[in-house]
Amino acid sequence: MTDTVGVEVQKQLDEIRAAGLYKNERVIASPQGPEIRLADGRTVLNLCANNYLGLSSHPAVIAAAHKALDEWGYGLSSVRFICGTQQLHKDLECKVSQFLGTDDTILFAACFDANGGVFEPFLDKECAVISDALNHASIIDGIRLTKAQRFVYEHNNLAELEKRLQETANAKRRLVATDGVFSMNGDVADLAGVCALADKYKALIMVDDSHATGFVGKTGRGTHEACGVMGKIDLITTTFGKALGGASGGCVSGRKELIEFLRQRSRPYLFSNTLAPPIAGATIAVLDLLSKSTALRDKLEANTLFFRREMTAAGFNIPTGTHPIAPLMLYDEKLAHAMADAMLAEGIYVIGFSYPVVPKGQARIRVQLSAAHERHHLEKAIAAFIKVGKALGVIKG
Ligand SMILES: *Cc1c(COP(=O)(O)O)cnc(C)c1O
Repeated sequence: MTDTVGVEVQKQLDEIRAAGLYKNERVIASPQGPEIRLADGRTVLNLCANNYLGLSSHPAVIAAAHKALDEWGYGLSSVRFICGTQQLHKDLECKVSQFLGTDDTILFAACFDANGGVFEPFLDKECAVISDALNHASIIDGIRLTKAQRFVYEHNNLAELEKRLQETANAKRRLVATDGVFSMNGDVADLAGVCALADKYKALIMVDDSHATGFVGKTGRGTHEACGVMGKIDLITTTFGKALGGASGGCVSGRKELIEFLRQRSRPYLFSNTLAPPIAGATIAVLDLLSKSTALRDKLEANTLFFRREMTAAGFNIPTGTHPIAPLMLYDEKLAHAMADAMLAEGIYVIGFSYPVVPKGQARIRVQLSAAHERHHLEKAIAAFIKVGKALGVIKG
C-alpha cells in the first residue's frame, strides 16, 4: 500500500507545529467549574470556559438532569418525527420561546446543527444571503449548504450592509445573518441598525446568540434585549452548551410559520437524533432559574467590569466592551501561546487563540469571566497577568 496521504498530512501537521499553531487538548480531571483539576493533579483557576453563569456543575442543574433521566430515560433512539418527541421536548421548546420572546422554537442536537439547518430550507438560487465577515464557522457552513447567492459585509459595518442590500434588490428573498456576540472579540452586533435596514429593504434577519442567551441584556434574554429589538428578529439560533448549563443542544427560535417549516424541511432536524432527556430536563431547570432571578447575570456583569477595568489600567490591550469575553490582544502567535503556558505555571488556565480560529497576526488570549468567579479569583488572575505580562514584555515592567 502506498500511503501518500499519510505522508502529506504528517507534513502539514509538522508545519502547523512549526508555526506555533498546534492545538493541544488538555485533559481535565474534574467537573467544569471556576477551578478545575488537571490530569497531573494541579488545581488551576479556569478563565476559558463558556460557563458564563456557573451552571455547568450547578446542583440544581445536576438534580434536574437526574430527575429527567429517571422519569424519561437515557435516550430516545429516534428522530423527533418518528418516535422521538416527549412532553419534555415540547416543554423545553415552549420555555425557550417564552424566555426569548418568540412564537416558537425547534430543538437541534447542537447550535452547529441549528445553523446547518436554518438557511437551506428558506433560500434557493434566486435568493441572497448577506453575512457579517466575522460570523461563526457554523453560520458560514450553513450558508454554504444553500444555493443562494452569497454576499459578505465588513464586520458590523452598516453602511456596507446597506450597499449589499441595494446590490441584491432583484433577489427573490434576502436574509441577513449575524452573530449576536462575536466570539473572538466579545463585541455585540448593532442589531438596532441591522433591524432598521432589514425593515427598509424587506430582508429577513437571522441572529446567532450563542454567546449571549442567558446573560446579555437586562434580564439575560440576549442581544435582541440589549439592543431593544425583541420581537423583531425572524430567526434566533442559540446553544444550550454555553451559559445554559453547558452540556449540548441548540435551537432555532422565531416566527411561528418559519419554525413550522423547519420541522418539515430542516435536514439536521429530520435526520439526526432527539436531544437526550437529561439535557432537555436540565435546560428547562436553567431557564426557570434565570426567569426567576437575574442574580447570576448581574454577578457576571460586575465581574466583567472589574476585570476589564483592572486589566486595562495595568496596560493590557483589551478592546473596549462589556462582554465577559475579554480578548487580550497580543498579535504574535508564539507570544500568545508562551503567555498561556506562563499563566498556567502561575495556576491560571487561559488559552492562546491563533489561526485559523482568528486571522493570522491577530493572536490573542481570550479570557472568559464567569458568575462562578469570586473577587479573590479575579484578583489572583490579574496579579498573575501583570507578573507574566511584565516578564514577557507585553506591558511595561
Ligand atoms: C459555540 C457556538 C456555536 C456552536 O454551538 P454548539 O451548540 O456547541 O454546536 C454556534 N455559533 C456560535 C456563535 C457559537 O459561539
